Amino acid sequence: MQNPRHSMLGNLLVVLISAVVVGFILGYPGWLGLLALSGWCAIEIHQFSRLVHWLQNETDKEPPEGTAHWGDLFDELSRYQKRHRSRESYLRGVITRFQQSSAALSDAVVIIDRDNNLEWWNRSADRLLGLRAVSDRGKPVMNLLRDPRFIRYFKKSNYSDPLDLPSPVNNDLQIQYQISEFGEGDRLLVARDITRLLQLEQTRQDFVANASHELRTPLTVIRGYLETYLEQELPRPLMRGLEQMQQQSRRMENLVSDLLLLSRLEASHQISDEQPIQIHGMLQHIFQDGQALGRDKGHNLSLETDKEHDLLGQEIELYSAFSNLAFNAVRYCPAEGEIKLRWWVDDEGGHFSVRDNGTGIESIHLPRLTERFYRVDESRSSSSGGTGLGLAIVKHVLARHGATLTIKSKVGKGSTFSCHFPLDMVSKAQQTEPDEDEDSNDLADDASGPADKQSKATG
Ligand code: ADP
Repeated sequence: MQNPRHSMLGNLLVVLISAVVVGFILGYPGWLGLLALSGWCAIEIHQFSRLVHWLQNETDKEPPEGTAHWGDLFDELSRYQKRHRSRESYLRGVITRFQQSSAALSDAVVIIDRDNNLEWWNRSADRLLGLRAVSDRGKPVMNLLRDPRFIRYFKKSNYSDPLDLPSPVNNDLQIQYQISEFGEGDRLLVARDITRLLQLEQTRQDFVANASHELRTPLTVIRGYLETYLEQELPRPLMRGLEQMQQQSRRMENLVSDLLLLSRLEASHQISDEQPIQIHGMLQHIFQDGQALGRDKGHNLSLETDKEHDLLGQEIELYSAFSNLAFNAVRYCPAEGEIKLRWWVDDEGGHFSVRDNGTGIESIHLPRLTERFYRVDESRSSSSGGTGLGLAIVKHVLARHGATLTIKSKVGKGSTFSCHFPLDMVSKAQQTEPDEDEDSNDLADDASGPADKQSKATG
């Protein structure tokens, strides 16, 4: 399109010059020039008012017809209007398709604005979370999803882990909430029905627990007979076979014990009966057991504890977790290794760490180490007598205490396994020291995993 300003000025000049020329011929150049200018202005005002009227009242219709530069302007407006209409209809289509597809989702999808108010949600959110289409729009999400665990989760700025809770409208439904941030402080909440998934997980846990329990009795009988036979004077080849059978049956017993312990730990995500634990005494036992376990390898074990602070928790579980870490260091460190056990408290909480200068673990294995039966080196782990469940037990015990496990390792330099407990699990140390020998036996009897690992490794 020609520039409307140039076209308008050009037209004006032509009209003015023509009027003045005609005016000269007729003898009234000034009057005719003025007349032409007034006529020009009248036409411009008329066209301008048509444009304003169209913009204010009739933008849904085609723009009016115009002459000269007004014609160009109206044509351009008409083209712009068509482009705008087709874009609008495309965007409307996208929104409709988005709404239809999100309505078809079985997961609830909720958009929450930066002021924590509900902005939009799909149909599944009505069913799973009880949000009502008209009356709840614009209300604060925390007024409608009132469970304190959800409120704590919502207020957190880190949403890397999902949150599992019963549905606010139906206690039989288990919902997994996951929040993602977008835009400027807006949040997208996705709530998924995981009831069936949890039922399957429960069935799996029950199966493992029942199978492990059922295996215990036949194993005890087999071991009983083996011990009786091994006390007899039998031919050497037969003795060798029986000794191997005894070794393997002991391994199976350890496996069954660890599986049962893991099933018990999985049954609930939190400890219910926390007690003050004299952590110094407990670590002394683990230290002594570690020394006995690593005697043949000539390890140098050291222990450093903060005697001023104890820990609240479940003693048998924590003994199992700490000793698993300490005995792993003893078992996987090559001869004459340096192993350091340490308990300390700082502003962030209580920490227990086991550091060794062993072979270390390649970084690709670290994220998977706490998976059941995950082993870095299958042959070495089996020959060391491990069940492959030690670190899985540690992870579950720590989770039940609100604690976390970190693993740092460098190949050729060694590894550090650290447990970090929140500050509210740390308590001031009690005055009385327990009878160490007596306590040691109690713990060794109860915490079947590590105690058995020790006897297994020395046996
Ligand atoms: P296992 O019963 O096989 O020891 P764990 O779950 O306790 O099972 O450990 C998993 C794997 O992690 C082990 O098989 C071993 O390869 C590796 N591992 C654990 N602790 C150490 C350590 N201190 N140094 C080197 N490797 C380790």
